[in-house]
Amino acid sequence: HLPTAELQALDAAHHMHPFTTNDELAEKGARIITKAKGVFLTDSEGNEILDGMAGLWCVNIGYGRQEMADVAARQMLELNYYNTFFMTSHVPAIALATEIAKLAPGDLNHVFFAGSGSEANDTNIRMVRTYWAMKDKPEKSHIISRKNAYHGSSMGSGSLGGMTYMHEQGGMPIPGIHHINQPDWWAEGGDQTPEAFGLARAQELEAKILELGADNVAAFIGEPVQGAGGVIVPPSTYWPEIQRICDKYDVLIIADEVICGFGRTGNWFGSQTMGIKPHIMTIAKGLSSGYQPIGGSIVCDEIAEVIGSGEFNHGYTYSGHPVCSAVALENLRIMQDEKILDHVNNVAAPALQEGLDKLAEHPLVGGVNVSGMMASLPLSPRKETRSKFAGAAGTVGYMCRERCFANNLVMRHVGDRMIISPPLVITPEEIGTFMTRATKALDETYTALKD
Ligand code: PLP
Repeated sequence: HLPTAELQALDAAHHMHPFTTNDELAEKGARIITKAKGVFLTDSEGNEILDGMAGLWCVNIGYGRQEMADVAARQMLELNYYNTFFMTSHVPAIALATEIAKLAPGDLNHVFFAGSGSEANDTNIRMVRTYWAMKDKPEKSHIISRKNAYHGSSMGSGSLGGMTYMHEQGGMPIPGIHHINQPDWWAEGGDQTPEAFGLARAQELEAKILELGADNVAAFIGEPVQGAGGVIVPPSTYWPEIQRICDKYDVLIIADEVICGFGRTGNWFGSQTMGIKPHIMTIAKGLSSGYQPIGGSIVCDEIAEVIGSGEFNHGYTYSGHPVCSAVALENLRIMQDEKILDHVNNVAAPALQEGLDKLAEHPLVGGVNVSGMMASLPLSPRKETRSKFAGAAGTVGYMCRERCFANNLVMRHVGDRMIISPPLVITPEEIGTFMTRATKALDETYTALKD
């Protein structure tokens, strides 16, 4: 390939990046990733970088698996494309839907496929509104979500999300979407116990339902553990209270499992880890370990039956795409045959926890939030009081992310929190490498702040 500087110049000139400024690209140049294997990326300069983020929380089985490439190639030659509209179907979509239904808890037995998590959440908005309309309750159309949540980048899913900087682009949130506070004890819990805080935050849902009128509220959407919002592991009191409130007012629960699903929290689904009984689950990312773009909604019997009693006027050209479906199915086979959940629970998550507990002693680290293989380290100038840094939020997090990159480690930052979500197959030795590089990056950030 071309030399790095030339690639960077072309990248800055022609390639528009998500969530990036032109100035950043022009000044620093993007890091160009050329290949990857296991948990390591290689860049155009030949550096080996440990990917502590599994791409964007998705490459659960690790990079560069031959079996995945073989399945994709076979499927492309056999049936590279067909749709699932107008009474047609194909073997990969059937097989994948059947496998997902087998893995999903309770009566979540039906899958509506999409190309991404954003598309799947758009589907969910239309699905719950259609469901209530078909039950002769069209006014039950409002959806309650949470501030600082991330549910995708389309108009619908961006509206479900609580990122105000997206809403400021205009037209969002679309009508009928509301946001309550998130259960972020570390940042917002003050002197309350986590339990009391979790309960109070859940009860905001009840207050919002009563304000809107229960007859007007279709659904509540939440990630079992909020990911892109900063890995916010809710206090133990939170989800049971949310479940009680939704049951009481006949409000559907949509669990956005785009990050939490497929092993990230130690179970197949984060809903199982948090004890939630959702009516719909959003899936993407780990469904195919990011080898192909695919997402979907897993839907309970009742909703599938009601919606299916008429024509659900919604769908995507690539719903159930055969190559994506075949690859996702192979990913699920690998997860099961290689007992990756056992590896997470018995090996990787305990090793990660041990490493994080050590990092928590670093003067810059104000705490540890962790569920299975997703974690965040809020950085703080005074950990005893969980204080935030003076100045613009995210400045120190950004510095630390850059120090991580310089030490060949990917650790993302959300504000001043460092985020960790490595491939689930990471070994204890690789976690050791992660910790060594992370400590060095934290030390360098700490020194730079003192200077
Ligand atoms: N939902 C959650 C919880 C996510 O984290 C994301 C992406 O990060 C999405 C939805 C959107 O998924 P996609 O980027 O595949 O559209």
